Amino acid sequence: MIISERVKNINPSQTLAITAQALKMKREGKKVISFAAGEPDFDTPENIREEAISAIKEGFSHYTASSGIIELKEAIVKKLRKDNKIEYKTSEIIVSTGAKQCLFNTILTICNPGDEVLLPIPCWVSYTEQIKFAQAVPVFIPTYYQEAFRLNAIQVEEKITPRTKLIILNSPNNPTGAVYDVEELKKIAELLLKYNIYCICDEIYEKLIYDEAKHLSIASLGEEVKDKIITINGVSKSYAMTGWRIGYAAGPEEIISGMSKIQGHSTSNPNSIAQKASVEALIGKQDTIEEMRKAFDERRKYMVERLNKMKGISCLSPSGAFYAFPDVIKILEKGIEYNGKKIKNSFDLSDFILKEAKVALIPGSAFEAEGYLRLSYATSMEDIKEGLYRIENILK
Ligand code: PMP
Ligand code: GLU
Repeated sequence: MIISERVKNINPSQTLAITAQALKMKREGKKVISFAAGEPDFDTPENIREEAISAIKEGFSHYTASSGIIELKEAIVKKLRKDNKIEYKTSEIIVSTGAKQCLFNTILTICNPGDEVLLPIPCWVSYTEQIKFAQAVPVFIPTYYQEAFRLNAIQVEEKITPRTKLIILNSPNNPTGAVYDVEELKKIAELLLKYNIYCICDEIYEKLIYDEAKHLSIASLGEEVKDKIITINGVSKSYAMTGWRIGYAAGPEEIISGMSKIQGHSTSNPNSIAQKASVEALIGKQDTIEEMRKAFDERRKYMVERLNKMKGISCLSPSGAFYAFPDVIKILEKGIEYNGKKIKNSFDLSDFILKEAKVALIPGSAFEAEGYLRLSYATSMEDIKEGLYRIENILK
């Protein structure tokens, strides 16, 4: 077989695969509504687009420093100081092709084959596969619906072994929308020091929080713990810039230069024009974030209320990000028959909903959590209403 064991061992990204399938159905003329993709439906703000146009006109079209332009690193340093109360030097920052590449480079830089990586679940699809790609071992820490999917430090400590190298925290969380409790995060920070464990804090949804939820960057808890943390963020979600592919990581210089080596031999610099635009995103006016957040908040409330009115579904009100993650176990227990087969898991159910109701969503199993579905509400209110109407009808 020509395919390497490493690649054979990883699964394709289901979020991307189902989004692509919905697009294909749309191209074939089917009236599909997509709750699949985790991306804002808004356009990138005008001031950011203008900056990119200027960069093109000025001929900013050459390779840049592989780890990103200094201007953008300085903007990131300022942003992390102002928003997150963390002090970094530009040598502790790397800019990559999306937060996804930052995560990939961090895991490859820190983990040796056989190292254990703690991963609270439900978790975003790419963490598990990136860990496996690095030949490290994902060790899942379940979080529960009954506890609003919040992580607690006791659960974390129980899973620590002499092989534990890293923990990945994602708050606000994709797919559950959970925002971790500040006190628990402080306790987890103590565990990092006690057991000498590194921590990736994926903060890509930090600006999208609702109600009373508060975001805390663990790296702001002091110099000692900061040495254990790689803070990851990007412009995709906060500035509706998913297609521009700019993410960044901040952490100890040794780790950042390791990541830089990988980047220098794989992709080189992230897109030069997008880097210029991202400077404007981070230092320019910030009011569009609040406009988007308010729209998401309204859609969130509507979606959660409608889902909870459907028989067999219960859904928590997410505190952050832009996903509803309803429990559909009662529907699966009913054992609905479809095409002569029983619908027995979230994959079958999402496939049934896509084929029969033409609504794309992601099965919980993609996030290591059977018995749930993920619906993105980063789409128009009109589509949300129509999509939920179709789901309700088909489940009747
Ligand atoms: N982390 C999480 C939790 C995400 O949901 C995403 C979504 N794509 C990413 C990282 C990667 O974002 P990007 O590569 O677009 O910066
Ligand atoms: N993060 C988004 C999602 O979870 C975008 C797709 C992806 O990169 O996984 O749907």
